[in-house]
Amino acid sequence: MTSRKAGRHFLQIPGPSAVPDRILRAISAQTIDHRGPDFAAVGQAALDGMKSIFKTQVGQVIIYPASGTGAWEAALINTLSEGDRVLMYETGHFSTLWMTMAKRLGLAPEFIEGDWRGGADPEAIAERLREDKAHQIKAVCVVHNETSTGSVSPIAEVRAAIDGVGHPALLMVDSISGLASVDFRFDEWGVDVCVSGSQKGLMLPPGISFNCVSQKAMEVSRNGGMRRSYWDWQDMTGPNETGYFPYTPATNMLYGLNEAVAMLHEEGLENVFARHARHGRATRAAVRAWGLEVLCSQQGQESGVLTAVMMPEGHGADAFRATVLKNFDISLGNGLSKVADRVFRIGHLGDFNDAMLMGTLSGIEMGLSKAGIPHSSGGTAAAMEVLEEDLPHTLAAE
Ligand SMILES: *Cc1c(COP(=O)(O)O)cnc(C)c1O
Repeated sequence: MTSRKAGRHFLQIPGPSAVPDRILRAISAQTIDHRGPDFAAVGQAALDGMKSIFKTQVGQVIIYPASGTGAWEAALINTLSEGDRVLMYETGHFSTLWMTMAKRLGLAPEFIEGDWRGGADPEAIAERLREDKAHQIKAVCVVHNETSTGSVSPIAEVRAAIDGVGHPALLMVDSISGLASVDFRFDEWGVDVCVSGSQKGLMLPPGISFNCVSQKAMEVSRNGGMRRSYWDWQDMTGPNETGYFPYTPATNMLYGLNEAVAMLHEEGLENVFARHARHGRATRAAVRAWGLEVLCSQQGQESGVLTAVMMPEGHGADAFRATVLKNFDISLGNGLSKVADRVFRIGHLGDFNDAMLMGTLSGIEMGLSKAGIPHSSGGTAAAMEVLEEDLPHTLAAE
């Protein structure tokens, strides 16, 4: 038996993020009849609430009892047919997984190679679409917040690139880890399908995921897409009109979702985005003061959700993470596939504040010393300086 660890565990991986007590309490309410009269208000609130988070009036929200991967598949199979070309951009591990899924489903993805150090390049997308005179490419798929690298793709510019060359491809965006942490505007940015999940910025446990669907994408799915049953958007839309679902929804997760949406609006979405961005700036200041390198090298594309930190040559990230977990009870994210053991990721998303960030960064700084990783001290001090100079408006206004 291991001895008791006092105090709270710091779950500083970039999803799942720690679930606030208010949401845990909401989820713990008794499960009700999902076909009974009381359910309609729960379902309707969840669907309407998510529209406000996606910032859409025209989009239709679909909620699946599945992890984000299920919603990825739903986005592809509701709109695309076997053999269809899709243009995808290699921002990191998650874009690669989505591309692999597209292949397995019988689509023909074209993958624009990236170096994992920035977001998708709208110019490269425009260039490829310009060559596609016959409009064989049916969709452009981009990851908004690449959780494996800590880079944000400029979605509005990707839309402008598609429109700029007059290409009719659908724009599909994975904002599983971006939504509710990094600004996202479904209508304004002209997104056709946005895929998201519960366990990142929405502060919920893993278990439900979303598609937000434009009228154009919904129209395409009516007569097209692949063979599907469980994931079919058309099956959802009828029952959803009155707040119900075609099969058993994750009722208790919907209680949690309604609480999460209320919390996000109480704080104000713009304040939520500013808080994440500010924590990203403070974290990067700490990393630089330690003399380490941030994986995202594109200025202005650094994520407010997480920071991926490169280890100095000859030092493994996983042994370092194990030291931090053992000594300080802080879970840090691992490096995925191409950057396995080369980077660790600091999650600073969800229900998170300055003192929690400073606790996290202190644990990392102590861990660097304990693990014998060459670094300069003073990272935490540098982060505090950023937090002190860069007060959030809500505090500054007092
Ligand atoms: C977490 C995540 C996924 C995978 O979602 P699951 O819920 O693990 O299926 C996909 N894309 C991005 C960008 C993610 O952050």
